Amino acid sequence: MFGLMQDWPLLCHRVIDHAAANHGTRQVISRSVEGPIHTTDYAAVRANALRVAKRLDRDGVKLGDRVATLAWNTWRHLEAWYGIMGVGALYHTVNPRLFPDQIVWILNHAEDRVIMTDLSFVPLLEKLADKLPKVERYIILTDKAHMPATALRNAVAYDEWIGEVDDDFAWKQFDENTAAGMCYTSGTTGDPKGVVYSHRSNVLHSMIAATPDAMNTSSRDVVLPVVPMFHANGWGLALTCPMVGASMIMPGPKLDGASIYELLNDYRVTCSAAVPTVWMMLLQHMEANAGKLPYLNRVVIGGSSCPRAITQKFQDVYGVDVIHAWGMTEMSPLGTLCTIKPDHAELTGDAKLDLLMKQGHTPFGVEMKITDDDNKTLPWDGTTFGRLKVRGPAVTKTYFKVPDQILDDEGYFDTGDVSTIDRTGYMQITDRSKDVIKSGGEWISSIELENLAVGHPKVMEAAVIGITHPKWGERPLLIIVPKKDQTPTKDELLGFMQGKIASWWMPDDMVLVEEIPHTATGKIQKTALRTRFKDYVLPTATAAE
Ligand code: AMP
Repeated sequence: MFGLMQDWPLLCHRVIDHAAANHGTRQVISRSVEGPIHTTDYAAVRANALRVAKRLDRDGVKLGDRVATLAWNTWRHLEAWYGIMGVGALYHTVNPRLFPDQIVWILNHAEDRVIMTDLSFVPLLEKLADKLPKVERYIILTDKAHMPATALRNAVAYDEWIGEVDDDFAWKQFDENTAAGMCYTSGTTGDPKGVVYSHRSNVLHSMIAATPDAMNTSSRDVVLPVVPMFHANGWGLALTCPMVGASMIMPGPKLDGASIYELLNDYRVTCSAAVPTVWMMLLQHMEANAGKLPYLNRVVIGGSSCPRAITQKFQDVYGVDVIHAWGMTEMSPLGTLCTIKPDHAELTGDAKLDLLMKQGHTPFGVEMKITDDDNKTLPWDGTTFGRLKVRGPAVTKTYFKVPDQILDDEGYFDTGDVSTIDRTGYMQITDRSKDVIKSGGEWISSIELENLAVGHPKVMEAAVIGITHPKWGERPLLIIVPKKDQTPTKDELLGFMQGKIASWWMPDDMVLVEEIPHTATGKIQKTALRTRFKDYVLPTATAAE
């Protein structure tokens, strides 16, 4: 027997309908690519999204077509997402920081028919356009006054393009499992892989994200999504905020410390989300300028492991809670968030910080397990490491045009991360499975060593990789970018780490470098470091022979 409830497909455009009807005057304030601050609200965003849908429909864009966006977080990008989804097409966010060849590969693989781009990326696309035969039209996200002279095919200014129609349009109707958007993984090894979100997965993910032990977003919040919409589905915020009626402050192209600081205080932001590098820049700016954060009450930090010093400063100096979060493009992207459960309410000082360093626990809608290499489930004891696997309604089951079986027998997806899970369900990433250092049959967490090293006052950034060792298989090499005018020694660093980690985790050597390479999503590029140091001989290697 089936239940007798209504069929009400979980469609993304229902989110903006809800926002317009119930939170219509809540503002969306953006730093425009052209420069000035722009203000609109959810009622107007919906009206323009309807114009986008009507205009796309008129241009022949239909169910299942892909529309690429190369764009910063602004109101136009938000309107575009809803308009594209509302006609049954897919928003396909492309990370403009990828290598040009990768961008071409991704756009051709996705077979995007239309590209919507910010002014910032017009010169880049002009160079690539010859290699993009399937793109029929370029829509430049600007107004007539700022429209550049360009030879891009059928180029038109967004404001003019939507200005040709009114908002009298009925969203297309389709099944809730219809594709809504896509995002390619950064593909540090091999080709990038396309993850395709559905309307249902996006709506459920936003409901999950808003829950109190996740981002706890509400109509009383003013949210500044620093994380770009082209990173891992923009952490879902383009849907979560309108769903709950939280006001949005969109940073446009300026993500430096001073610009973010200005927005946080000018618009009384209560919640923000970004990768650790952004927060590092903000904290540096505030330190140099005696900054204060009177309105901000929490920041969500994820994308890579959050250094202890960041959490500590936010909490102790600025009175801001840090929610460490973990997820991935394949998970829409939220997996775990580190909010404090009653089991740990009494913790203070270092013990509390230790907990906050973990990536957190899963909200309802994400299931996780850790296994060994033979898929045997490992215990949640806080010390056993294993491959982290997940399943849920917003976790991918396969990649675009690559119909391989990627789930195990129980339907779990292998995240490629290695982690522990403790008795109270807190997960802590110890490594990527390919980065973990295998020393004498035991695993050493490169991330833990890195987090520890960046706590040293002379260290700007740290990376740890495994170097071949004749006795142990691999041993850790500590790679350090010093702070300006500082020259930390190996003895200083190892002395600093002494007693904070097991003695056999201690790096065998340290090198200073000017720069550590990063991927387009801001993660340390371990593959490049491994190539650079492939012939490196550890001092302990010769001693062992
Ligand atoms: P992406 O799909 O580009 O967002 O990358 C996802 C990967 O980033 C994960 O599989 C992790 O390896 C890493 N990652 C994301 N968040 C964290 C975090 N809080 N701590 C450590 N690694 C993280």
